[in-house]
Amino acid sequence: MSQCPVCDADLTLGDDILKGELLECDDCGTELEITSVDPVKVDAAPAAEEDWGQ
Ligand SMILES: [Zn+2]
Repeated sequence: MSQCPVCDADLTLGDDILKGELLECDDCGTELEITSVDPVKVDAAPAAEEDWGQ
């Protein structure tokens, strides 16, 4: 079980998570990035509100 690094809420992760996958904390709404899958580590994703100009 992983926890949100921002609000410590428990995160429900699927069995097929991938490193770099983004998810949103149901509790605080922070965008999170899976930085490692074994063991699972979740970190707040870098702010990406701006369009990166692709
Ligand atoms: Zn949270």
